[in-house]
Amino acid sequence: MSERADAVVIGAGVIGSSVALELARGGRKVIVVDKGPSAGAGSTSSSSAIIRFCYSTPDAVLTAWESAGAWADFAGYLGHTDPDGMGRFVRTGHLIFRIPGANTQRFETVWKELGIVHEDLDTQEISRRWPGFDVGAYFPPKRIDDPAFGDDATSTLSAIFESQSGFMDDPMLCAQNFAYAAKQHGAEYRFHQEVVSIDREGGRVCGVSLAGGERIMAPVVVNVGGPHASVLNRMADVVGGMRISHRPLRSEVFTVEAPKGMTLEDGFPTLADLDVGQYIKPHFGGTWDVGCTEPDCDELHWIDDPEQYDPYPTVEQFEVSTMRVARRVPEFGIPHRPSGLAALYDVTTDWVPLYDKSDLPGFFMACGTSGNQFKNAPLAGQFLKLIIDAEAAGIDHDEQPVQYVGPRTGRSINVGSFSRRRDPWATSNGVMG
Ligand SMILES: Cc1cc2nc3c(=O)[nH]c(=O)nc-3n(C[C@H](O)[C@H](O)[C@H](O)COP(=O)(O)OP(=O)(O)OC[C@H]3O[C@@H](n4cnc5c(N)ncnc54)[C@H](O)[C@@H]3O)c2cc1C
Repeated sequence: MSERADAVVIGAGVIGSSVALELARGGRKVIVVDKGPSAGAGSTSSSSAIIRFCYSTPDAVLTAWESAGAWADFAGYLGHTDPDGMGRFVRTGHLIFRIPGANTQRFETVWKELGIVHEDLDTQEISRRWPGFDVGAYFPPKRIDDPAFGDDATSTLSAIFESQSGFMDDPMLCAQNFAYAAKQHGAEYRFHQEVVSIDREGGRVCGVSLAGGERIMAPVVVNVGGPHASVLNRMADVVGGMRISHRPLRSEVFTVEAPKGMTLEDGFPTLADLDVGQYIKPHFGGTWDVGCTEPDCDELHWIDDPEQYDPYPTVEQFEVSTMRVARRVPEFGIPHRPSGLAALYDVTTDWVPLYDKSDLPGFFMACGTSGNQFKNAPLAGQFLKLIIDAEAAGIDHDEQPVQYVGPRTGRSINVGSFSRRRDPWATSNGVMG
């Protein structure tokens, strides 16, 4: 049995559903296929969903800043209010501890141009605002079995504080809100349906085949498979035309009790502590989500088969993460029992995403989101629509990269900076982008 659509979107995560929304609101008949049970049930459901603007490339900073406007008025952006509830933006501000050599100037320059207000904080000011911090500088981050882990601080910290950052309170609900809006424009969602082949005819994509034997014929297929995206790109046989590779990486995030006076309710911000190698997101109910900034000393856990990974956090990484946090916040105390999750990022060579066409005409990709693109889901959908429209109009995005003009800033974003054929960005080498 086969049916027809103008576009098939593989993956109903937050990025896939944003792509589906933009294609459907542009008038295409869209079918979204997901092998999981509901929108956002893939890696999106594990996201910390932090929205911040510190990236090492100007296009990435602009993409995050423009997308933040959409999150701040999410229902207005979607044009629909989901009767099942809407994801909400929680503004916390973002605190970044400076470390040697990290070139914060790259984003600070763009911030100044865009009027993104931020403050420089010296050690005394950090202590005055958050007396719970040990303001020693311990860089570089270390494992706890490193004899130097307990060494004295070499100097004291300074920081940057930016007040507009925050997080979306429920990442899976956000994906469902995108899906709800996409459905209002006629998009259809098929769950528990696995794509098992990307089909070709006459040198271009012609649709997909599903595990149950059904085919969906379409001139446009978009790979938004999250951690499975590299499997799908291999299935489509487009990897040979890519200079940037991508593959799944396992990452752990722990939920711990926040120390007194440092909770979300106390106004504690999200924190990028590259000095010890951890990030912290204050959450409801007096908790913190604690994740890793992937410092050099931590081994990266690459996964060959995204179907086969341990979804439970390990005691080893829990101890490393919580000991590092305890170093920074002496009142923290060490929780006894690991609580949290392990999930997969689809990581590229340079930790910059792939929003692009492929060498197979009609086959596009929004993947390689490298643990840092939840916040950019609104623009990712618009980028893909622009690329797909350009190709339909006979404009080759490789030769003449699409430019996106942001409504918030009037500034142009070169969508070609997310190309599969780019030279890897030298300034971006971790989850912080
Ligand atoms: C632990 C963690 C923390 C994060 N923290 C942040 C953060 O603080 N800020 C931020 O901006 N970003 C963060 N991210 C990144 C962000 O969450 C992801 O970039 C984003 O959620 C990816 O969305 P997606 O739609 O591309 O993928 P997914 O949500 O993974 O969706 C992909 C979908 O494709 C489906 N699929 C795959 N293969 C097939 C197939 N063959 N057939 C049919 N369906 C298929 C899957 O079932 C899945 O539902 C984090 C990610 C993780 C894992």
